[in-house]
Amino acid sequence: MRRSRGLANWSATGRTRSLTRKPAICPFCTGKAIIDYKDVATLSQYLTSHGSIGSRHTTRACAKHQRALARAIKRARFLALLPYAAVHIWKTGGVGLPASRHRRS
Ligand SMILES: [Zn+2]
Repeated sequence: MRRSRGLANWSATGRTRSLTRKPAICPFCTGKAIIDYKDVATLSQYLTSHGSIGSRHTTRACAKHQRALARAIKRARFLALLPYAAVHIWKTGGVGLPASRHRRS
């Protein structure tokens, strides 16, 4: 009788799992984070230090959620909840940068 080719044979092929790259798991698909344009604390985690939207590599989001994330950040920018650029940060006297020198009026 011939042996069935199951999981036992798979490990004997010589290829170990450590060689394969671990796939990026989208934090929004797993429910660890929720995209909301009003939630500035969460959205600011997916911005770079210059205020631009992080790439899919840095955000680890899937294509669907990366589009939704970009849309939420752009919406928050329009409502002046998030900065458009680093220049905007010091002009408006916001997040993390010294504002005293450049503040107007
Ligand atoms: Zn996703």
